[in-house]
Amino acid sequence: MSELKDWRDLPVAGRVTPSTAEQLHTGGWRTGVMPEVELSACVNCLLCWIYCPDSAITLDGTTFTGFDYDYCKGCELCAEVCPTGAITMVEELT
Ligand code: SF4
Ligand code: SF4
Repeated sequence: MSELKDWRDLPVAGRVTPSTAEQLHTGGWRTGVMPEVELSACVNCLLCWIYCPDSAITLDGTTFTGFDYDYCKGCELCAEVCPTGAITMVEELT
């Protein structure tokens, strides 16, 4: 068995500059689930907006309005952090 490489010996992989996700149109592929919101249960805390790794939460000024499904990847973080359960993940029909 060959000796394992130290992390410093590994080649540098591709990387995305932080906070630029909204500039990189990624299309509509997802994990198989997508977020839906019950707006009447939303208290506009914007935790989903803070945590979304794909800048897929849409706002009108500082008011939560929904999701941009061209960026959402179905990671479920928004549903996890939503304190009121306003966001649920639903299976996406293909
Ligand atoms: S499922 Fe993930 S990518 Fe999609 S809106 Fe929620 S946090 Fe963002
Ligand atoms: S985390 Fe939930 S309550 Fe907070 S803004 Fe998002 S949908 Fe609304």
